[in-house]
Amino acid sequence: MQPTMGEATQSDVGSLLRKIPAVDELLAAPRIQGLLMAHPRWAVLEAVRQVVAERRQRVLRGGMTREAGEAMLAPDAIAEAVAHRTAEKAGPSFLPVINATGVVLHTNLGRAPLAPAALQAIQATAAGYGNLELDLATGDRGSRQAHVESLLTALTGAEAALVVNNNAAAVLLAINTFANGKEIVVSRGQLVEIGDSFRIPDVMVRAGGRLREVGTTNRTHLRDYEEAIGPEAAMILRVHRSNFQILGFTADVELSELVALGGRRNLLLMDDLGSGALLDLSLLGLRKEPLAADAIRAGADLVTFSGDKLLGGPQAGILVGRRDLLVRARTNPLARTVRIDKLSLAALEATLRLYREPERALREIPILRMLGLAAAAIGERAEMLAQELRPAAPGTTITIEDETSEVGGGALPLQAIPTRVLALRPAHRSAAEVEARLRRGRPPVLVRIKGDRVLLDLRTVETGDEAALLQALREALCGRSGGIA
Ligand SMILES: *Cc1c(COP(=O)(O)O)cnc(C)c1O
Repeated sequence: MQPTMGEATQSDVGSLLRKIPAVDELLAAPRIQGLLMAHPRWAVLEAVRQVVAERRQRVLRGGMTREAGEAMLAPDAIAEAVAHRTAEKAGPSFLPVINATGVVLHTNLGRAPLAPAALQAIQATAAGYGNLELDLATGDRGSRQAHVESLLTALTGAEAALVVNNNAAAVLLAINTFANGKEIVVSRGQLVEIGDSFRIPDVMVRAGGRLREVGTTNRTHLRDYEEAIGPEAAMILRVHRSNFQILGFTADVELSELVALGGRRNLLLMDDLGSGALLDLSLLGLRKEPLAADAIRAGADLVTFSGDKLLGGPQAGILVGRRDLLVRARTNPLARTVRIDKLSLAALEATLRLYREPERALREIPILRMLGLAAAAIGERAEMLAQELRPAAPGTTITIEDETSEVGGGALPLQAIPTRVLALRPAHRSAAEVEARLRRGRPPVLVRIKGDRVLLDLRTVETGDEAALLQALREALCGRSGGIA
């Protein structure tokens, strides 16, 4: 077949292959020698081998113009790619990023940033030994749960509490303890998938429970529950619809009615709240989320929720409720497999202590502070950033616009929080290119794209990160192209 104009012919492929430098030759090049001074040898070596292998593959795949092939194999281009790859390998893979998406609880970005008090607690307990499971008063073995239980009972009004690795584990442990081989009566409208195809119903089944689904997707009545309860039933479960809402012709049964039904039929009532706010979010101008304390007051036997959603703490699963039940859950052998680790426990205790002084919680817990920021104040910060960016990014159209932030993390799905964003229409690159450059930079910056514009919502950007953000924007909008392997 005749090659089309500009494509490499077979002989070009051969001549391009001969231009690929040998690994040893590259390692001797001054630029790579410089890298070897600054980075571990293994990282440079792996980077060189990978960049050479990838470029060889690219040549063999064919379809490149001779000019493009030669540009790709130029010593400078290869050295640049090796430098970039080395820096990636030598640095951590899991690193801090700047979240300019305006999604406050971004599951892919680690959900809740921690309060300073929680960070100090982690630092203090992680660096040395701690009384994790030691009662200092008696010298006897203690329980790690003791550090948080009284805080949780004070904050929720429950008799007892138990914390585990995450809320999915809390649900697993509860179902396995109380409904293993038994039926769990649950509304069809509440069987949720919480992201990454992870379905709570699948967890319940693996925990040994059998789901007895009642009602229809949009409407479930008390009589649906009543009719479904048979001799095999052990539990009525209510699952908070955290990440979606059913609108229109709907009917749900009030928690208090389910509690009464559970009482009449001698069944446990468990409420999986998901987010589990500890403070009334209407204080921040948001819709009120059900509080753990509300569910306890309504008479739920067990309530489960996450530590790193609206609570604003570390990853954890929290069970609160009747003491007799939590004693049984704690002694289930599975409790050991879902145990909370000491660092999360330290952070959780410190975060819960802040909630004992609600004004302090609102001030110091980052996600509560972010959720409470007014659009006008965010707009002013965006304007200041715009003023610094304009001279540095000539040609880019920079405006401040009304937009909405999201709570995220599967909480308050339809709650759009008014915000003001920095909107950039780049002059020399597409919005997608700028987004990718920001994401691959150090520190990585995560933004939104809308049409041909890049949007940055400063609601989720810490004040101390603004200088780094500005530098990243300059680089992404006006920095040299290429170099990224
Ligand atoms: C998020 C969520 C879970 C899982 O919580 P993790 O802490 O992420 O394990 C379980 N149930 C509901 C209703 C949720 O929203």
